[in-house]
Amino acid sequence: MVHVAIPVAGRKRPLAKRKSRVSQLSMKKTVRMITGATALLLSTSALAAPSDVMALQDKALQDDVAYDIVEGLTTEIGPRQAGTEAEARARDWAVAKLKTLGFSNIRNEPYMMPTWIRGKEMASVVSPFPQKLAVTALGNSASTGDKGLTAEVVYFPTLADLMAAADGSLKGKIAFVSHAMQATQDGSSYGAFGPARFVGPNIAAKKGAAAIVIRSAGTDHHRNPHTGNTNFEKGVTPIPAGALSIPDAENLERMVKRGKPVQLKLVLTPQNIGQQESGNVIAELPGSDPSLGMIVIACHLDSWDLGTGAIDDASGCGIITAAAKHVMAAGQPKRTIRLLWAGAEEVGLWGGNAYGEARKGDKHALAMESDFGADRVWRVDFSLPETAKPLADQIAGALQPLGIGRGQQPASGGADVQAIIRNNNLAVIDLQQDGTRYFDLHHTPDDTLDKIDPEQLRQNVAAWATVLSIVGNSDADLTMPAKE
Ligand code: ZN
Ligand code: ZN
Repeated sequence: MVHVAIPVAGRKRPLAKRKSRVSQLSMKKTVRMITGATALLLSTSALAAPSDVMALQDKALQDDVAYDIVEGLTTEIGPRQAGTEAEARARDWAVAKLKTLGFSNIRNEPYMMPTWIRGKEMASVVSPFPQKLAVTALGNSASTGDKGLTAEVVYFPTLADLMAAADGSLKGKIAFVSHAMQATQDGSSYGAFGPARFVGPNIAAKKGAAAIVIRSAGTDHHRNPHTGNTNFEKGVTPIPAGALSIPDAENLERMVKRGKPVQLKLVLTPQNIGQQESGNVIAELPGSDPSLGMIVIACHLDSWDLGTGAIDDASGCGIITAAAKHVMAAGQPKRTIRLLWAGAEEVGLWGGNAYGEARKGDKHALAMESDFGADRVWRVDFSLPETAKPLADQIAGALQPLGIGRGQQPASGGADVQAIIRNNNLAVIDLQQDGTRYFDLHHTPDDTLDKIDPEQLRQNVAAWATVLSIVGNSDADLTMPAKE
């Protein structure tokens, strides 16, 4: 089940006309216009949404704009690795697309960043069971050189086992870290098992390892390794760091468990190509009352290089942009809605950090981000001031027809809005997407257009359009209490 569209009386009238009547509509009248079953549902929520919000939601459920953006970016640009010429082409594409869609104040805000690019990659067991393994380099991996390196594998079932290894015990060896990442709806397994990638290589390097391979931070059983960034602390010399596909990691585990020393040959030849230009593409739907503070909505334009970045994160850019476009079509909102198609998220949040610094003087009220694929939204979380509770209640009520429940934990926002949220102490709303299959595809060659489910994508657009329309037309004070 993806969504339930509410039939609303008067939906054939132009949205602009209906808009002027919103404030006059009492809740009683709104509920009367809705079919019996739905009214029963809404009677349990604190507040029903005005009928024009429901009409907007209905329209957004027919959306084609989000899919058009994902299709266009993946077809006409493809992989868009941060700092490369492809990411620059993607920025030009974004500017042209946002112009065509009718947004204002469109600009590219460049910044410089250190850039790492992939080289050759190969892993093969030399003995006792010679065969190739599917491997990919992690971002910031060092190079083995063209000739590669061959060494004995030291197996660690978990990251904690690697952490417990004695200093110096890995000298000249290839550490192999496995784990048991499973799919979870809320994506929390990435927090639990992702550190094998985030910090495993740094820990192995500090213990003297010549190189490291990890079981990919992923949940599929295809022969696709998952890339992604890893980070080495200042003062730690980076080592070659690769991810094995999950079936290959399982194969290597079985070899190790047979008890004979396993020799692995690894060839990874990535390069650091120094400071390169990246940039943020920004566009706006100007509001009628700038004193209210704007809503910044973000996605990231860069992608990893193995796939075409459909779910990570062309879909996010499609969702936020299509939603803003539907709000635009319904008439000018009170608050400005600013779109941030951030650059260089994958390799260290360069775009989000640049935005948080360059734009902290702008009057913001709320931040939101879409960066968890294209599957349906199932939960809404809020981080709003206590006084804005009626607003949160109204939003939660309006999202119920889309099958979205209300979470109990505070919203935290995505990676690209972290800096502006921190710098400006912003209110946040999170529309949490179903992440059950996200880590089957994340950072793999399989992150391609055919994995997008157009119906679920539309449900996302409808959820976003609902929230943007309600907050965009609300003059509720969203100032967060000062942090201690
Ligand atoms: Zn992402
Ligand atoms: Zn990513």
